[in-house]
Amino acid sequence: MSTSKPSVQERIAKLRATFIDQLPERIAQARELLNRLQEQPGDPSVLEEMHRFFHGIKGTGRSFGLRELGVAAAQAEHWTTSLMEATRPNDPDEWLQQLEKYLDLITLMIDKVRAAPPDAQPESSPLLTESNDADGLNRRGRLVYICDDDMLTLEQLSSQLRCFGFKTLTFVNPHTLQAAVRDRRPDAVLMDIMFPQGHEAGPDAMTALRLEIGFSVPTIYFSARADFSARLAAVRAGGEAYFHKPVRALEMVAALDAITAHQLPDPFRILVIDDEPAVAEYHALILEGSGMVTRILSEPSRILEELQEFRSDLVLMDMYMPNCLGQDLARLIRQMPDYVGLPIVFLSGETDRKKQDSAMRIGAEGFLTKPVNPDDLISAVAVRAERMRALRSLMIRDSLTGLFNHTTTTQMLENAMATAQRSGTPLCFAMIDIDRFKSVNDTYGHPVGDQVILALSRVLHQRLRGSDVVGRYGGEEFAIILQDVALERASRLINELRLDFSRVQFHATKGRFSCTFSAGIAGMAGHASLESLREAADRALYLAKNNGRNRVVVDG
Ligand code: GH3
Ligand code: MG
Ligand code: MG
Repeated sequence: MSTSKPSVQERIAKLRATFIDQLPERIAQARELLNRLQEQPGDPSVLEEMHRFFHGIKGTGRSFGLRELGVAAAQAEHWTTSLMEATRPNDPDEWLQQLEKYLDLITLMIDKVRAAPPDAQPESSPLLTESNDADGLNRRGRLVYICDDDMLTLEQLSSQLRCFGFKTLTFVNPHTLQAAVRDRRPDAVLMDIMFPQGHEAGPDAMTALRLEIGFSVPTIYFSARADFSARLAAVRAGGEAYFHKPVRALEMVAALDAITAHQLPDPFRILVIDDEPAVAEYHALILEGSGMVTRILSEPSRILEELQEFRSDLVLMDMYMPNCLGQDLARLIRQMPDYVGLPIVFLSGETDRKKQDSAMRIGAEGFLTKPVNPDDLISAVAVRAERMRALRSLMIRDSLTGLFNHTTTTQMLENAMATAQRSGTPLCFAMIDIDRFKSVNDTYGHPVGDQVILALSRVLHQRLRGSDVVGRYGGEEFAIILQDVALERASRLINELRLDFSRVQFHATKGRFSCTFSAGIAGMAGHASLESLREAADRALYLAKNNGRNRVVVDG
């Protein structure tokens, strides 16, 4: 637990203080602009800069809860707009005086703000709650305790789950399991119902444990009994699922996945574009407070690099920025095929409906007006980012296994090769193909074949690191990209996966069976192009098949 990291509230307070500190300097700059206008009345570029000054003070002021300052700046902004559109009297003296009055008014407001006690709360204090630090639980290597007085079931279940990457500990007695949970909390418990101690000793032990430690560990019950009383005992003890023995490991894996899949999906990634760094940071903080990851861009010309590097789910964009209007930037983004679907939400002080509509026509997903209520901002962004995720997932993932599809895997291989070349780190590419899969389909039926594909995808997915990419390359073919791994280690790793998979038991009406796969691996060294690397892995796979299958062959 780190206590040194300031809370979001504290960071917002600090930003606000910085904004207030900088106000005198900013007003001095605005007065300088006024001087320039007095020398050259109507100079459009100076007027524009003046407009930006008022606009910035308006937005930031309101965002930090400085309402009066915001209102004064809004009036001044409005006045400047009409000057720019030349709908005001064109007697310079008159409008210069008016501008000066606005500056005086704003100066007065600034003095007032600065005289207020430093800890005065903003009027619209953002209602933020600090999200708990993700506990960093790794999806892989989830710890499962299994308790059964039947040693055979215990061992079988345990070894099958290990094939899928679970860590398991086995107990023959509910008391030793209780002691183990007190010692270290597992991600899930698999518990038998009946023990020599009693007909429902399993659920009883879990209930007692819950009362003692004050929380319940996700538990799945399994039993030779399938009667009402056994099932009821399991439900009363808070069981998440119930399996009748013999337990099929594959079904258990699916249930365990469902209850232990860490409910923390990847946080949304939001690119915040605003020429006012403080405003950008303020909005970014609100979003971060709700668990999103943000990147701030105050210099629109860096948009191409940022989009590429940050891979955002949504862009939150200011409308008026020097050098580049939000609409133009949105259009620019839309013209790149990779980003046609990227949601863009404008966040601007612009309240003119016509201007909002014209901004939306470019294909923006939303328009929020500053100052925005923090909850509204969070939900507007989350809803759109979520939809983007779902759409993107349909495009990049395979529907049966959830692994990356062929196109995406190829793209990722290309990126990974570029990164490896730049950083000089090793990279390996492995192709995996299930052995004699056609006969699985022919013997047991296509749906059972699908289960085999799914089981292999689980084995691959759960065993590999987050930085490794697993894709379904074709029907019963898979591809793995191992980054920063030497060929020898990659070969050992894939071989372990091969052994794991070969131990998985499948159950079909026609009986039990197991499957194997063959794999070919190639390292990037000596392959300048993606095609050449892929061909090398393919060659190795072909050799593995020809040499008798159920083996891993390294190219070269
Ligand atoms: P080898 O050991 O040489 O790889 O033999 P094989 O039978 O696995 O190879 P082959 O390429 O001849 O057959 C692959 C089979 O996989 C043919 C196809 O019907 C089946 N298949 C492809 N996609 C799927 C799928 O999504 N589900 C199921 N059940 N079968 C599939
Ligand atoms: Mg094949
Ligand atoms: Mg095959």
